[in-house]
Amino acid sequence: MGVVCHCHVAKYEKVSNRKFKCLACKKEVNCNDYLQKAIEDIHLIYPMERLTVNLVKKWTENHISSEKIRTYLNTHHKIFKNGPLTFYR
Ligand SMILES: [Zn+2]
Repeated sequence: MGVVCHCHVAKYEKVSNRKFKCLACKKEVNCNDYLQKAIEDIHLIYPMERLTVNLVKKWTENHISSEKIRTYLNTHHKIFKNGPLTFYR
């Protein structure tokens, strides 16, 4: 797991609370860009997978708090509720 940079050479590494950096091409992204890339990758690799906070958290190697992920998903994605399960699209 982990989020691969757009250059496809290396993963983003956490360099500060709000910044992630690819050590190969030196590209820097903020938390939201990092989360968005993670979500795009999940869709690409597991198109049928339901997007949940836990899945994104696992994908981003716990670099981002559940609260931040939930806020991001609530803002940028549609929420679906299915019984006790909440997921996003
Ligand atoms: Zn890169």
